Amino acid sequence: MHNTRLLRLPLAVFLFALFLLIPVQLMVENPMLLLERFLPGAGWFEIVLIALYGAIVAYKMQDPSKVQTWRRYTWLAFSVLFFSQLILGLFGFERFLMTGKLHLPIPMMILAGPIYRGHLSVMSILFVSTLVLSGPAWCSHLCYFGAVDSISSVGKTRRTPIRNKWALKSTVLLLVIAGAIVLRWMKVPVITATLLAIGFGVVGLGLILLVSRREGRMVHCTAYCPIGTIVNLTRFVNPFRLTIDQNSCTECMVCTTTCKYDALNRKDIAARKPGITCTLCGDCLSSCHAGSIHYRFPGLSSQRARYLYLFITISLHAATMALARM
Ligand code: SF4
Ligand code: SF4
Ligand code: SF4
Repeated sequence: MHNTRLLRLPLAVFLFALFLLIPVQLMVENPMLLLERFLPGAGWFEIVLIALYGAIVAYKMQDPSKVQTWRRYTWLAFSVLFFSQLILGLFGFERFLMTGKLHLPIPMMILAGPIYRGHLSVMSILFVSTLVLSGPAWCSHLCYFGAVDSISSVGKTRRTPIRNKWALKSTVLLLVIAGAIVLRWMKVPVITATLLAIGFGVVGLGLILLVSRREGRMVHCTAYCPIGTIVNLTRFVNPFRLTIDQNSCTECMVCTTTCKYDALNRKDIAARKPGITCTLCGDCLSSCHAGSIHYRFPGLSSQRARYLYLFITISLHAATMALARM
């Protein structure tokens, strides 16, 4: 690819990250950018740093063969940054927290928290906005917890589908909703609700460390986490899609072992589209010798659709890197 063309996407990400973060620096009274909290004016330096980070990630991820590695490590970096700030906050350094008030860092709380409390949280609003803008990218680039499942599932992926995945997912989702309604209705004290949520998180962590690791795929995210299930069910509000070419696909099944989200099984290949748990992560693209896996967006070629998806997703990833904390 010509050098100037290679720079278009990174430049677009750089500018869009600036566009997203500058209003935060200018308009929000209580500084949200971390460096600004320590040194007035340093928020500007952080904005440029974060925008540059986004540009470098975009530059690297233009190459489909680099997506899997770069996505895994940038996602992990995001998670490490998020949890380090949380730990510092727990040790009394309140400037590392969003509001100075602690919340449980379990994705399930994005759903259960507002039902139990009776009002939306900042995290719930952020979640819905990213769902509209980038579809399922929340579960491949933006969630602080999923990165742990992603790292745990490194290694050889099993080819057979996860058994009873939908029965398990829907049961957990319904139980979480019903549980939050009952806790609210019975006016169960916050401490009890918190202990139940911690128990839910511990079971999830157990799945990550024991099952995802053994299976080589993200069992926690694809079969347990209720937020993942909501993402799966609502991802179609966003027009980005992934398709498999009807004619060029040879049904060799090589791509099935690259998908950590259990979305490329035999029946998905036969249907020429990934399963509903696909997060559009892009890991599988370079594994296909026939170049049969493509991003789609109405009115755009597959390459432009992919660039547009990378543009939105990496910009959001960079911005949330600067802003996401409890
Ligand atoms: S499935 Fe849950 S834990 Fe996994 S990435 Fe999505 S929201 Fe995060
Ligand atoms: S089908 Fe491809 S893009 Fe979708 S989740 Fe699996 S590896 Fe990622
Ligand atoms: S690797 Fe390509 S050709 Fe082989 S099954 Fe997957 S999409 Fe089809």
